[in-house]
Amino acid sequence: MSNITTLPIVYFVLPCYNEAEGLRRTAFVLGGKIKALMTKGDISKESRVLFVDDGSKDSTWTLIQQLHHEDGTLFGGVKLAHNRGHQNALYAGLMQALQDGCDAAISMDADLQDDVNAVDEMIEKFSQEHCEIVYGVRSSREKDSWFKRNSALFFYRVFEWMGAETVANHADYRLMSRLALEALSEYHEVNLFLRGIVPSIGFKTGKVYYARGVREAGESKYPLKKMVAFALEGITSFSTKPLKLVTGLGVISILIGLIMLVYVVGSVFTDHAVVGWGSMMCSIWLIGGFLMISMGIVGEYIGKIYMETKHRPRYCIEMTL
Ligand code: UDP
Ligand code: MG
Repeated sequence: MSNITTLPIVYFVLPCYNEAEGLRRTAFVLGGKIKALMTKGDISKESRVLFVDDGSKDSTWTLIQQLHHEDGTLFGGVKLAHNRGHQNALYAGLMQALQDGCDAAISMDADLQDDVNAVDEMIEKFSQEHCEIVYGVRSSREKDSWFKRNSALFFYRVFEWMGAETVANHADYRLMSRLALEALSEYHEVNLFLRGIVPSIGFKTGKVYYARGVREAGESKYPLKKMVAFALEGITSFSTKPLKLVTGLGVISILIGLIMLVYVVGSVFTDHAVVGWGSMMCSIWLIGGFLMISMGIVGEYIGKIYMETKHRPRYCIEMTL
């Protein structure tokens, strides 16, 4: 449980990739929100926005520098040397926030698609209900295209079936307490899929519902190709089930081989056997099946090695008495 007697220092972490077009407006809206929260006495005056420039090719960093120059206490920035992708940029920002001594960090997109008015409730759940993680969940996906909505739904189903945990309709708009951030820092994997890692951390969590808007400026940095790659990243980062599926296919192949065998033996007795065909068919299915099962067994070990190499924490202690 977080032990905050004074007002919490909340960092707002925004990964930005070629967001120059809309960044000023984002800073204006979010800055206004933060100042209002400070005046209300919900967050400490040391709270701030941390922009993470993910190796942008436009003037994003110059803009962040300008904002910092105009109000150094409210706006800070981290510049990554190269474009490393949304998840890495976000992680970099969260770790910087942790290092700077924040009590909680709220991550959101730089395009104002996530309704900033949901932060009041997030902070309330953190300060009053002692939630260590508060997920921002989209109450509706009306503004998304039919394809994006349904492909997302399909992904959540597959992900769950693969045995991994995720929060449906939650992107990366969330609050994480210092304790949760410390737990996150224990995950040393390179292939980051935060939507899978964060739910696996545990702790007391809460949800805040909000309507997701349309992008204010610029265009989406997640075209279909990147979206599919991201979904595959998520599945392969959390599940070795695809490797196990090969074993299942092998078993099916052997069963077909056995059915063939029964048919072939039967055809010998009913006197309509074709010379050479039966032995060929049985061998193909049976050998295929044995090969696939063997691959599945190898896959089982590779899966174990893969999970070991991630060096994920075995557990995370919430409290001791
Ligand atoms: N982003 C990033 N690095 C990238 C791609 C995207 O930091 O390589 C940021 C981007 O600036 C935005 C957030 O990640 O703040 C989400 O991207 P976007 O809004 O384009 O995704 P969408 O909302 O369309 O899914
Ligand atoms: Mg967006």
